[in-house]
Amino acid sequence: MLRDEGPLVPMAGCTDLYVALNFGTLTETRFLDLWRLDALRTIAIREGALSIGALATHTDLIRSPLVRRRLPMLAAAASEIGGVQIQNRGTLGGNVANASPAGDTLPVLAAADATVVLRGAGATRRVPFSSFYTGYRRTVRRPDELIVSFEIAPIRGRQRFRKVGTRAAQAISKVVMAVIAGETPRIAVGSVAPTVVRARRTEAALAAGASVAEAQRLLLDEIAPIDDIRSTAEYRRRVTANLLARLLAPRSA
Ligand SMILES: Cc1cc2nc3c(=O)[nH]c(=O)nc-3n(C[C@H](O)[C@H](O)[C@H](O)COP(=O)(O)OP(=O)(O)OC[C@H]3O[C@@H](n4cnc5c(N)ncnc54)[C@H](O)[C@@H]3O)c2cc1C
Repeated sequence: MLRDEGPLVPMAGCTDLYVALNFGTLTETRFLDLWRLDALRTIAIREGALSIGALATHTDLIRSPLVRRRLPMLAAAASEIGGVQIQNRGTLGGNVANASPAGDTLPVLAAADATVVLRGAGATRRVPFSSFYTGYRRTVRRPDELIVSFEIAPIRGRQRFRKVGTRAAQAISKVVMAVIAGETPRIAVGSVAPTVVRARRTEAALAAGASVAEAQRLLLDEIAPIDDIRSTAEYRRRVTANLLARLLAPRSA
């Protein structure tokens, strides 16, 4: 249908689409409802990798023993998205496709080196998460493709996630960070640039033995926060540095 009857806008949980509808910013008028495609909800291990269907809701992620065991930082992120109603409707695929730099699962998938599986009528493409976003709210997904799943190889190291918002629920992140601490550290930050940032220079310095203070300085060079309705650039910079120290600490609160 996407190929032959398009352009059509895929609809999953509609928790982002309805906001756009209410604000009058949704210009499209033709939609494709994905909600009943149960095959896209599967969470399983395939060839050693964790495979999460795009239609898995945040509640599915929180409840999944596989996600909790293999990717606990994703369950942690899902449990801080919106409130219970949003978690019951909102999907992982919708969070990623919506491409907001404040999307809470994005730093997790970036730090996890996830692969985005896109499928069109003709072919399946596997895109590294680090190549999926091309700019502010822009992705490599073509109009005739759906995100069908995400693949995440086993991760070594301690996974940590932290979101800083105005309150514990129903808050858009001012800063959101996922860290894998270990021999090969991985750091990803959201809400501090037009797209989620994978802090590769900071990671390399830490792997080479840099101190936390040096890592904090480097990380601030890798982000480009702005002042907006939710926060100031200066606040975001300070919180980003503090979060890094906290998430790298052996027992962070
Ligand atoms: C009150 C409220 C609180 C919220 N709180 C948070 C929060 O704390 N953190 C956060 O990150 N987000 C939050 N959100 C945003 C939203 O809930 C999430 O981004 C959610 O995961 C979106 O999923 P969805 O299935 O509802 O997407 P939809 O609204 O159905 O779709 C969003 C976009 O993705 C596209 N799309 C959806 N699925 C696919 C697919 N499989 N393939 C291709 N394109 C697809 C749609 O065409 C659309 O452009 C909140 C929203 C509301 C209304």
